[in-house]
Amino acid sequence: MATLRFNALQAVSNRQTATVTPPSTKVSDYYGSNVFGQEAMKNYISGSAYKALMNAIESGEKIDSDTADAVASGMKAWAIERGATHYTHWFQPLTDATAEKHDAFFEIDGGIALEKFRGGALVQQEPDASSFPNGGIRQTFEARGYTGWDPTSPAFLMGNTLCVPTIFVSYTGELLDYKGPLLRSISALDKAAVSVCDYFDKDINKVFCTLGPEQEYFLVDEALFNARPDLVMAGRAVFGHSPARGQQLEDHYFGSIPPRVHNFMVDFEIEALKLGMPIKTRHNEVAPSQFEVAPTFEELNLACDHNQLLMDVMTKVGGKHGFKVLFHEKPFAGINGSGKHNNWSMATNTGRNLLGPSSKPKDNLMFLTFFVNVVKAVHDYADLLRSSIASASNDHRLGANEAPPAIMSVFLGQTMNDILEELEHNGNVKISKGDNLYMKLGINRIPELILDNTDRNRTSPFAFTGNKFEFRAVGSSANSAWPMTVLNTIVAETLLKFKAEVDKLIDKGEKKEVAIVNILREYVKASKKIRFEGNGYSDEWKEEAKKRGLNNVPVTPLALDFMTTKLAKDVFEKHGVLSHTELEARHEIMLEKYIKKIQIEGRVIGDIALNQVVPVAIEYQNKLITNVKGLKEIGLESEAKSTIDYIKEISKHIKTVQVEVENMTEARKKANNTDNVRERAIIYCDLVKAKFEEIRYAVDKLELLVEDEAWPLPKYREMLFIR
Ligand code: ADP
Ligand code: MG
Repeated sequence: MATLRFNALQAVSNRQTATVTPPSTKVSDYYGSNVFGQEAMKNYISGSAYKALMNAIESGEKIDSDTADAVASGMKAWAIERGATHYTHWFQPLTDATAEKHDAFFEIDGGIALEKFRGGALVQQEPDASSFPNGGIRQTFEARGYTGWDPTSPAFLMGNTLCVPTIFVSYTGELLDYKGPLLRSISALDKAAVSVCDYFDKDINKVFCTLGPEQEYFLVDEALFNARPDLVMAGRAVFGHSPARGQQLEDHYFGSIPPRVHNFMVDFEIEALKLGMPIKTRHNEVAPSQFEVAPTFEELNLACDHNQLLMDVMTKVGGKHGFKVLFHEKPFAGINGSGKHNNWSMATNTGRNLLGPSSKPKDNLMFLTFFVNVVKAVHDYADLLRSSIASASNDHRLGANEAPPAIMSVFLGQTMNDILEELEHNGNVKISKGDNLYMKLGINRIPELILDNTDRNRTSPFAFTGNKFEFRAVGSSANSAWPMTVLNTIVAETLLKFKAEVDKLIDKGEKKEVAIVNILREYVKASKKIRFEGNGYSDEWKEEAKKRGLNNVPVTPLALDFMTTKLAKDVFEKHGVLSHTELEARHEIMLEKYIKKIQIEGRVIGDIALNQVVPVAIEYQNKLITNVKGLKEIGLESEAKSTIDYIKEISKHIKTVQVEVENMTEARKKANNTDNVRERAIIYCDLVKAKFEEIRYAVDKLELLVEDEAWPLPKYREMLFIR
């Protein structure tokens, strides 16, 4: 008997629904209570230090040590009052998780016990960081790395630890994390966008990016999860036959949320709200046991921190409800995967959303300018953008059942398409005195309420959705910071070029608006091939994209090549986002991460197949053999024959498993003997990963053939339908 599986199933049926009591019926009573935000700062930091801090944040200038001391001591007082005993620099190394090293406030100073937290400890720490990925930058003999305070993202309390968001740099000053480059790209985009806004509105002196990440995830009961080594080790089911009922009934999406899940949602939302995350939406997703949570959008850096923190909170709170949260992009083959739709836009200090159409023609020219520049940026850097979402886990999703394809394209919707068509075919407009300028330019027509009638295209990797772009191809487990860094950087570059070209026309005596429209028209023409309104999941699109010369690179090791092309290196360097060294290190880290993931999957596949599946298949076979002997003994020859066929069928699949696991192990050896990391990654992809499907096919067949009672792994039908 498959004890582990049946014990797990027993545990599931005994599960009680945990009760959840919100601290108050009004969210506003506890929203942000675990954040050292504006409110807390005003109460715990002296007026002058508070002002100095705000000025430094505003201007991006260095914070002096007196201010840092004052902030640290305020933070400490605030945190200790709330039960904190430790503090940590919270950072995002290039792994899948956030990192923290806790230090106690408690110190012995000259024989006296004190709780201490000085400005120095707030501003910089030196984590024992030799085991974070560094892409060869940090030699092991020089294992030091630094974390540096990001004052733009407020400190927060997790349990009894004060967490200070920081960047993470090597001893030699190279960025080794997600936050550092993101902050640089945000300021690059700010500069470029402000310079373009200058054409329209002199009051705009700051442009910041906004992000609302919609997070999809699966829930699995903890007991079942623990009975599946593949979920434990690799975050996805490497085996499992599709259940009789999958998502074909389409009854899960937006359906009623099971009570146990609902309570989990309420519970983690409370924690998230206390941490200042503006959680707004919760619903079922398309696949069984798949759900989504979405916050209201925030400033990009904060939104990225919050998303990382949210995943952490969900994981922790999940434990209380007997749930494991799966952020993997494709935990279950055959049903939908999970994404993290990155809703991104740019906003100004004057309160304008630069991707939001308006009722005023003048504002709409500004809107159109930013809109077209984003499309042009995606066109010019489609491959780089593709590389920014490449990972071993996202490879399972991109191009698979119901997921954006690995081809970059932009969906605009009918209204915006019509407007760009018109702009393109409008010819060079001549403006004479008395003309209605915007009518003449053809841009007074942008409907005011485009928002309400934007079409949706779920199959596009990058879609305009009325007042923002939605980068849908980002994987559910990804740190949004990296794709957002790439997007900011390429848009900054495009805007600067645009600015230079418009200025040139103006210098030649062209009227400003005419110059702008003329360059926009060129951009629309130049970026046509990236626009696609049809079904991105169809085979016709693959054909069409090929004709258009768009790349379709479905595997990570090759997609990552686009990260380090001259085009990519130049744009990162020019905008001060990443040096060549930093970029190459990052490339190597991503390749290594890919290798490790496939290696782990390969091992767990081999392990389960040989040590769990094959033994039960053989045992069942032996049962059948006994049956055959018995049948023959009583003279039922022809009945015995059909059982023999059954035995042969089982044997065939057992043999496939044994042979292919062996082949896979050989392929791993070959890969591991290859020094060059890119080549190694390619071997892992082409030779190791290629075996996964063959082994899975045989194992899944065995699942159907072997008696249910003996099957060791919880089945899809048991994992996917939460009551
Ligand atoms: P859906 O796209 O699922 O219909 P919404 O359009 O309401 O849902 O929003 C999806 C996400 O996009 C939310 O997180 C929302 O806050 C965010 N969003 C809305 N406006 C912007 C914006 N200007 N910039 C960034 N994100 C935005
Ligand atoms: Mg959406």
